[in-house]
Formats: sequence, C-alpha cells, structure tokens
Amino acid sequence: MRGMMMDFPLTLPTILERAGKLFGKVEIASRKPDRSLVRYTYADFYRRARRLARALELAGVKRGDRVATLMWNHARHFEAYFGIPATGAVLHTLNLRLHEDAFAYVINHAQDRFLIVDDLLLPLYEKVRDKVKFERVIVTPFGGAEIPAGMENYEDFLAGADDNFEYPQIDENEAAAMCFTSGTTGFAKGVLYSHRALVLHSLAEATVDAFGMSQHDTVLPACSMFHANAWGVPFTAAMVGAKLVFPGPNLDAESVLDLIEQERVTIACAVPTVWIGILAALEKSPQRWKFTNEVRVPVGGTAPSEALIRGLDKFGFHIRHLWGMTETAPLGTLCQVRSHMKDWSADEQYAVRVKQGYPAPFVELRIRGENGITPWDGETPGEVEVRGPWVARCYYNSPEDNHRWTEDGWFKTGDVACIDEDGYVKIVDRAKDLIKSGGEWISSVDLENSLMAHPAVLEAAVISVPHPKWDERPLAVVVLKEGRQATPEELRAFLATKFAKWQLPDAFVFVEQIPKTSVGKFLKIALRKKYANWNWQAGA
Ligand code: AMP
Repeated sequence: MRGMMMDFPLTLPTILERAGKLFGKVEIASRKPDRSLVRYTYADFYRRARRLARALELAGVKRGDRVATLMWNHARHFEAYFGIPATGAVLHTLNLRLHEDAFAYVINHAQDRFLIVDDLLLPLYEKVRDKVKFERVIVTPFGGAEIPAGMENYEDFLAGADDNFEYPQIDENEAAAMCFTSGTTGFAKGVLYSHRALVLHSLAEATVDAFGMSQHDTVLPACSMFHANAWGVPFTAAMVGAKLVFPGPNLDAESVLDLIEQERVTIACAVPTVWIGILAALEKSPQRWKFTNEVRVPVGGTAPSEALIRGLDKFGFHIRHLWGMTETAPLGTLCQVRSHMKDWSADEQYAVRVKQGYPAPFVELRIRGENGITPWDGETPGEVEVRGPWVARCYYNSPEDNHRWTEDGWFKTGDVACIDEDGYVKIVDRAKDLIKSGGEWISSVDLENSLMAHPAVLEAAVISVPHPKWDERPLAVVVLKEGRQATPEELRAFLATKFAKWQLPDAFVFVEQIPKTSVGKFLKIALRKKYANWNWQAGA
C-alpha cells in the first residue's frame, strides 16, 4: 500500500517564499571591500532575488541554462543563490582562485550563458575573455569601479525588470546549482546539485547536532561562496530565517573578529586556516575584542588540530568538526561528543572532537579496506565510500570519471579512514594525489607532469607537507638529467605559466633518485614521511 501524503516538490523557491513571507524583518549585513557595512533585510532580499529571476527570464534564460557568478561573499551573491535557481536555471559559482586555463575550461565545459561578476573581479574575467563566450556580462558595483562599455550594471539589470515574477513548476530533481571540484589530474569535475538535494541538505544542516541553526542565530559564512555553495549555509540560513553577515573579500583575522564582535555572530563558518589566524590574533591581543556570546564554529575542509580546538575553546569559540566534499553538498559527517561520553575526561572528549565524526542523518558511510568492508574497530584503514540524497551520482558530462562510483552506487571519496565502535570516522590518509592548501586543491600529478616537461628534469614527485599556516603546502622532489642544471627559481618560473601562483611548490629538493613501488610508481608514503618535519622557514 502506498502512503497517502502529497507529492510536494522540495525546491529552493519554497525556501525563498517562506523567507520573504516570514522573515522580512530579519537583517542581512554585508561588508563592502572598504569594510563598511551595508544593511538590508530579508524583505529586500526577497524582492531583489525575485527581480533578478524576472530580469533573467526577460533576458531569455531558460530552464537548465547555466548562469555563472564570479563574486565574493556578499549580499548580491546571496540574491543570485536564489534568483538564478528560482527561474529553473542553474547557479554556477566560479572559483576565483583558479589559473586562467582551468577557469576558461570550467566556463566552457559548463556552457555558461550569462555571467554575474563583481566589478573588482573583472580583471580575472579579462584574462579569459577571449577564450569564453558569455552572452551577457552583468557587473555588480561592489567596489565602486567603473563598469566597462559592453557590460551591464547589475542594478540597471534589476531595475529593467518588474515584480511580476512567477515561479515555473520546478521538478525537485531538476538542477539548481553547480560547483566544480579538483580532480587528481586534468581539469576540474562538475557536481550538479538538484533542488531536492539542496533542500534536504539544508534540513540536515540545521539540525541541532549539525550546525544547530535557527532564527535566533546570526550566521557568518566566511567559507567561500564558490566552494560547495558556502557549505550550503546561505540556503540553510534562509530556510530557518537566521540573520546573515557577509564578510566581503576581507577574511584576515582582525576583520573577521571585528565582525563577530560587532554583529554578535553566533555561528561562524570557515576553513581551519582562517581559524589558525584568528586564534593567533586572539592570543596576541586577548583584551581587544569583547564578545557577548559563545560562538559555534562548524569547521571542515581539512582537519582542525586538537591544539586549535582547545585554543579556540578558551575564547568561547567552539569548533564543530565536520567532514564533507563538494560531491556531498558538502555535509557528510558531524562530530559531537555523544551522551554516553559526557562524563569522560576533557582529554578523552578532545580525542573524540578531532575525529571527523559520524554520518549526518541520511548519509550512509562504509570503509573498504584490503579485505572488504572494514569492521568498526577504530584501526583498520580503508577508503571511505558514501551514499545519500545529497551525494553526487556522477560528474557533469564526465563519463571517464565513473570509476569513482562503485557498481552498487556508492561514491568513492579518496579519503582513507578507520571507523570506531561508535561510528566515528577518523581520516588517516588520502588515497587521491592532491594537496589541500588553505582549503583549496593543488594537483600533485599535474605539477609533476609539468615539471617533467622541463628539459633539465628527469623525474619529479610533488608531495603534500604539513604547514603551520596553510595546513599543507607542495614540496617538489626532483631528479635532474645527467649533466643538466636547474634552480628552484627557474623551475618555479617554468611552472608559473600553467599554475596559479599559490599552487607552485614552495620548496624544491634535488635528489639522486626517487623511491619507487614494485610497479614503478613514486613511493609517496616514503617521501611524505621523510619530509614530514620540513621547516618551511629554514627551507630544510
Ligand atoms: P572539497 O571537495 O574541496 O570540499 O574537498 C573535500 C575533501 O577535503 C575531502 O575528500 C577530504 O580529503 C578533505 N576534507 C574535508 N573535510 C575534512 C576534515 N574535516 N578533515 C580532513 N579532511 C577533510
């Protein structure tokens, strides 16, 4: 017998409508590049997001079309988060840290029709302008820069529409948003989120044991809005009616702390690199900021260290460790000390909190070791596989990557972990050959292939080495051809034509040979072990 409940679609416009009807008086504060704050409300946001939808519709945007954004974290971007999907089109948030070749690739692969871009980010667009074809380029006057001829002012674009937008009947499985994520080699892979996935993700994210977000909260998304939809936070905040505070482009510790203090932020989201800087600033000037409340700090992207969790606790900033991926929208696991652990010692509880945690509701997780699915013994490692309603089932137009899914439909994450008797996952290694620096990916394999194209280089292995500020940084181990010379500066300059500056190895070590596995692959485990205590300052 089938249940007799309505088949009501889970779509983002339902969240937008509710926010407009119920939370009109709730404030949204958004920081300009000069650090001044612009304040408006959900009522303004609702009207403007619908205006944007109407303007896009009048401009000819159709269901399923991709509309790209190249924007910092601010209120206009928030409008795009809802205005674009409300038309049935797909919000494609462009990563502004990509090298221009990767950037052009992503735009062309997604076949983006329109671009909404911050005036301050126009120089990035200019770099790829000849390689991409946007039908319209709409510029937000964010930093007060002049809008070039041939482009439209976002405000004029909105003013040209009316308030008569009517939502199309969107099927919950239609695409709403798209993000690209790094592959181990080659160009990025597109993840295409459905309305249903984003709505269910928002419901799970709001739960008390996850972000615990409600209309009482003031939320600061200091995680990039181009990275996994700022962890879905803008959608969740609109769903529950939380006040939002957007930081703009200034993510230095002082700027973020000023905002938290001034706006009485209760939930602040950012990658560990940002929090490392914040803890240093707090320790340096403990009296400078006066906080009136405790702050919940959902953290993911890389693992926060125990020292960071302990250090921030002292200042009333409580890390909630999460694990996730662009492919998982991103919430995968969450780490709370569970009820049966509440009488454990502080040390024991910290030992729990550094783990990535247990799966969020509706996320299923298993670990595949050498001998099949591992027991929950806290020590047998294997690759994490996940499935769930907000986990990607394939990449966008990328059938060559289908091997990332098992035959029975689980996504192979490339993370190596063990799982304990309570279901807590602890990541111990990474099977994928990638380096995560300050929350953004660098492909070792791409760097190696490029280095080995240098006429003086015989072999090169690039490994991830722990770094106090960026969590990880690339180090290149290089074997030169007999009789040939090359300096680190030369090799960096050689790579700089293909990679963004922050992706270049910080150190080059010249060796006679690179250790190899029995099948001739670089033995990276040995290299990582050898250089684990690399002193970046001393370069040795
Ligand atoms: P991205 O798709 O860029 O968000 O990257 C996802 C990857 O980041 C995961 O597969 C992990 O390798 C890493 N990651 C995310 N969260 C954590 C965490 N809490 N601890 C360790 N690694 C993490």
